[in-house]
Amino acid sequence: MTPVLFRHPASLGHDTGAHPERAARIVAVERALEAESWCGFEPQEAPEATRDQLEAVHPAAHVERIRALAGSGGGSIDADTLVSRGSWDAALRAAGGAVAMVDALAAGAGRAAALHRPPGHHCETDRPMGFCLLNNVAIAARHARDAHGMSRVLVLDWDVHHGNGTAEIFAGTDEVLYCSIHEYPLYPGTGRPSETGHGAGEGHTVNLPVGAGSGDEAFVGLVERVVLPIARDVRPDLLLVSAGYDAHVDDPLASCAVTDAGFAAMAAATHRLADELGAPLGMVLEGGYDVDALARSVAATLRTWSAPTPAAPEDPPTAPVVEWATRRLAERWPSLR
Ligand SMILES: [Zn+2]
Repeated sequence: MTPVLFRHPASLGHDTGAHPERAARIVAVERALEAESWCGFEPQEAPEATRDQLEAVHPAAHVERIRALAGSGGGSIDADTLVSRGSWDAALRAAGGAVAMVDALAAGAGRAAALHRPPGHHCETDRPMGFCLLNNVAIAARHARDAHGMSRVLVLDWDVHHGNGTAEIFAGTDEVLYCSIHEYPLYPGTGRPSETGHGAGEGHTVNLPVGAGSGDEAFVGLVERVVLPIARDVRPDLLLVSAGYDAHVDDPLASCAVTDAGFAAMAAATHRLADELGAPLGMVLEGGYDVDALARSVAATLRTWSAPTPAAPEDPPTAPVVEWATRRLAERWPSLR
């Protein structure tokens, strides 16, 4: 079955004015992908998420707050997080696209993508924040369990910011292993290694903070040498990437130095992992605020995913932060030893 990507023109109607998280991001991504025949993916319009799908993650009052604020013409939730009249439609399609992506993967698509805005990973159970109104990847992961019985999901979040929302939503469960590589310290201030989840979820939050200036060695090294071994121990039945591109060297909101080739290398690692585990692989767009770097890097991801399985690097990159994370996590995860 052909890889599928979900999109929707409603993404352009979430009007944030002069804001880094703007409609031009999606315009640039779609233009770049269309010029490459969508990198082998079949574009489809995202459906709206249903209330039940949203409320598997967010309380009804949270959902209603977003709908009502958009319906009344919009306003601001906090200094960063804006709602316009079109934001409800945009958010419904962004969540619905992530859900449809999971349905496509469950039906055998192998690879799928949900390319919408607003992004989602900062949105907590009951708290929209950080440009995010609904947590799209969390809604996708819950749908995977509820509709398809996939109860071991790995979420790899390579957005440069810690996905505090996804971490909070799944902190108490072992059904979702949340791995985040993020610049620290940086917004939103969470994501320390000591945050490991609680109760049944203890150990199933893996925070991999990196310092400002970190580039391909740190990001690709952490994926190859830490995330992949942990995934082999967990054996997830679904792999989801919270794919933000604001760790790019050209990004204005953070200070990391990942290149287009670095994103392609992380995509290649997830591609090999999915083949090795026989698990489907999807991505939900998060951040990325230099529109050209974003467009090129999303294309690099999808191009890598639709190509034949790449060979494993003989000697994956490493960095002190990779060695430190390996030592720190080896006690819990046998494949790291
Ligand atoms: Zn981000």
